Amino acid sequence: MKRQVSAAIVTTLLVSVSFVAAQTKITAPKNKYSPADDVKLGREAATEVEQQLPMLNDDRVDSYVDRVGARLVENIPTEFRHNQFRYTFDVVNLREINAFALPGGPMYAHRGMIEKARTEGEMAGVLAHEISHVALRHGTAQASAAGKYQMGQIGSAILGAIIGGRTGDAVSQVGQFGFGTAFMKYGREYEKQADILGAQIMARAGYDPRAMASMFRTIEQEGGGRSPEWLSNHPNPGNRAEYITREAQSLRVTNPVQNTQDFQSVQARLGQMSPAPSTEEVARGTAGRSPTGGTGNPRTSTPPSARVAAPSTKFTTYNEGDVFRIGVPSNWQEMASENSVMFAPQGGHGAINGQSVFTHGVQVGIARNETHSLEEATQELLASFAQANPQLGRSGNPTKGTLGGRAGLRTMLANVSEATGGRERIVLYTTQMKDGSLFYLIGVSPEGEFGTYQPVINRVAQSIRFLR
Ligand SMILES: [Zn+2]
Repeated sequence: MKRQVSAAIVTTLLVSVSFVAAQTKITAPKNKYSPADDVKLGREAATEVEQQLPMLNDDRVDSYVDRVGARLVENIPTEFRHNQFRYTFDVVNLREINAFALPGGPMYAHRGMIEKARTEGEMAGVLAHEISHVALRHGTAQASAAGKYQMGQIGSAILGAIIGGRTGDAVSQVGQFGFGTAFMKYGREYEKQADILGAQIMARAGYDPRAMASMFRTIEQEGGGRSPEWLSNHPNPGNRAEYITREAQSLRVTNPVQNTQDFQSVQARLGQMSPAPSTEEVARGTAGRSPTGGTGNPRTSTPPSARVAAPSTKFTTYNEGDVFRIGVPSNWQEMASENSVMFAPQGGHGAINGQSVFTHGVQVGIARNETHSLEEATQELLASFAQANPQLGRSGNPTKGTLGGRAGLRTMLANVSEATGGRERIVLYTTQMKDGSLFYLIGVSPEGEFGTYQPVINRVAQSIRFLR
């Protein structure tokens, strides 16, 4: 009797060992943030997301997506579980096939993704991929590797990346240090990890991981000529379908969940609502109200307009906390945000889909970083800026000068505004604060008006006085 029992144990062990060995082993990337940081960043961003994006707010759809999500979350392998994380799933009333996840667990699925999925398994595939990015803490891992900036910048960068999307203006991303790219657009290595872990989670939850590959194909086809937003944030590392299929074979799922009654009734319910607006319609403020009577009405957008009054020759002085003093044309308005302050004329600034943008004026901010020389810190800023803005070009090397009586650099840049599609000129001034953080001033105007604006931007820069 005793012999038989131990034989059974040995057999069980062997089976489980061979099962584990067949799977691809995943190691979460290095991360200098704590899981509690992920939770904090994600929670802050979630509050903003829910204010800015048109949420569907339909109980039956939400609770269904929640159930599928929860089933996947229960099957995250133990080594990637974080007690502090809380995975939540909400549906955004937007047409594109898209989904995104915030650090620490808040996740958002576009209505278009649920509508275009052919099976529950396909929808679960996208969710499993996003869950994997969260569980592997890819957002903060990428921020750890990307730069030496602290939490504040990262928080606003997440928002820029999500809310700005394609419609965000290039210049407004300067304030966020192009962190959008560093934070939400993942590289091939992380993508492959999220695919593989996603496949493993799917299999453990009883789904066929190949459904994830087929959903990715649907997304690729959806794009037509232009790359769909989901793919631009989650680039195909190459051979995506092949390695997912290989992983699926090693996972051996029998009788996978394909389609469910719930999935079909949710799709039918969505089909009865009036069509979801596109992100672009929401950004332009032309989308209609949600048919469900929820808060699906997008926040009104006021993009910058073509008519902008010339800068006043009279200047008004502002004290920014106890940090610095600045003078700007008296017909420019002050708009402060968490990490920066913007001064712009009426019509020269606006909000596109909740993201503030400006075509005329200046933005001033401070970026915390570790000890770098002014040159290095400026280069780091420019590099992340260029990464986020492929159209951005530098016209000449930085020139030395002073800003607020301190050694500074001035860099001239040219860009194509994503807000207007027109060419714009940018002047970037940088200097260092006493604690080593980088102080920056960005002036922008359309190329055709730069003759008028350059001397004004210069005068604003010369007005800077540091108070500490
Ligand atoms: Zn991804």
